[in-house]
Amino acid sequence: MTYQALQIQKDDAGYRCTLQTLDDSALPEGDVTVQVDYSTLNYKDGLAITGKSPVVRKFPLTPGIDLAGTVTDSQHPLFKAGDQVVLNGWGVGESHSGGLAQKARLKGDWLVKLPTGFTPRQAMAIGTAGYTAMLCVMALEKHGVTAASGDILVTGAGGGVGSVAIALLAKLGYRVVASTGRLQEADYLRQLGAADVMDRAELSAPGKPLAKERWAGVVDTVGSHTLANACASTKYGGVVTACGLAQGMDFPSSVAPFILRGVTLAGIDSVMAPRAVREAAWARLAQDLDTVQLERMTREVGLAEAIGLGAEILAGQVRGRVVVNVN
Ligand code: NDP
Repeated sequence: MTYQALQIQKDDAGYRCTLQTLDDSALPEGDVTVQVDYSTLNYKDGLAITGKSPVVRKFPLTPGIDLAGTVTDSQHPLFKAGDQVVLNGWGVGESHSGGLAQKARLKGDWLVKLPTGFTPRQAMAIGTAGYTAMLCVMALEKHGVTAASGDILVTGAGGGVGSVAIALLAKLGYRVVASTGRLQEADYLRQLGAADVMDRAELSAPGKPLAKERWAGVVDTVGSHTLANACASTKYGGVVTACGLAQGMDFPSSVAPFILRGVTLAGIDSVMAPRAVREAAWARLAQDLDTVQLERMTREVGLAEAIGLGAEILAGQVRGRVVVNVN
């Protein structure tokens, strides 16, 4: 039994990602085998495909931190053949072969049932990026930010997490300000629901410990000076959710926003989030994400095309979400 898969190798010939035909002996250990319908491309998949950061810790390995498909074989009590499932994270696509393939073998503990209301393709249009955007929105809510609190800043707005965050927040009635390096995409961002679009250059250079109070809440996908400036310009009692590092992993800030304005910095991790949190986020996505908006931000590619897009997503050249049709 053979299947098509992206395969990352690292040896004397260098680091490379290619499309290969594999047989079942290449599948890793696991108690559930899944026929993959769709996967997707996230920032971390770009890091894995290009090798720009050492996210892949085992070779050879199939990248892809997300997949949606149908169980063909299961020894896990929660899943049986024919079940439609979704996987996000858990180190899959990093230390365990992942979703950019027609077949995957996984631990059932990592899987959730395909959320009611979504097709496998829609679940992958959302993917880790969209599920993380939902985690950010839920964190804002948990810390008391409401639509009446004031403007919400979304950074990295043209990317995957940013695009889904805008659509979610706008549908929930928040006034969203989208920060982007691609002002030519302002119409796209407004169509998703942004009330205002700002140049990310306003936030990306070193700034002061405190600035004019502007944001009731922030969804930050870029880190570094942008996150520091977002904290510095968050209103008294506001909430900043930090999930990304597209500008950098550093955080050149001061304690001023936290001790003088009571700002909350909420860290967001999707990879190791427990099942209950994942299921809650997916249920909220089914309720609060407009699927017309989801389609607007999504394009579909094949497995081979995903390789070249790895470098593009890291360069901030991919708009919204990319679904990978693996078949
Ligand atoms: P995308 O590449 O789709 O989006 C990132 C966006 O950030 C780009 O589109 C661009 O938006 C902006 N950007 C890129 N480079 C820079 C830069 N140098 N300075 C400022 N802005 C920049 O990635 P994803 O949406 O998939 O992921 C976004 C981030 O969130 C990544 O860092 C990723 O690792 C992280 N992430 C974290 C998760 C977690 O569990 N914590 C889960 C999922 C993602 P624009 O052109 O509009 O400015």
